[in-house]
Amino acid sequence: MSDWRLNGQEEYLSNITLYKVTFPEFWETAYRNKNTFYQKIARYAERFVAGTNRGTEHLEGDKIQHFWHEHCEFCWEKALTDKSCEFYCTEDMYYWICAECFHDFREKFNWQVKSAEELFR
Ligand SMILES: [Zn+2]
Repeated sequence: MSDWRLNGQEEYLSNITLYKVTFPEFWETAYRNKNTFYQKIARYAERFVAGTNRGTEHLEGDKIQHFWHEHCEFCWEKALTDKSCEFYCTEDMYYWICAECFHDFREKFNWQVKSAEELFR
């Protein structure tokens, strides 16, 4: 039986390691440590503000977090830094998978799982 959520992801998401991320804690840690997740959002936010002539007050404190969101690679469920949710991401934090799709496709895709802390070692 085919699943509407499957659309060729086997080609780039098979046999890989995913990192379990829980929001909003993941963002709070990122903001505190200014880790690579924070830096990734900050770079995007700075470009966006510069490109749209918005005030730099949008970049103050943890406001940068609102420039980021991602969608589940399978069902398009939205991940937000300030929404309570569990997602799984690739090592480069490019692809995001919601908890439900992770559990449904884990065996099919042969995913290994590591904790979010492993992303920053
Ligand atoms: Zn999903």
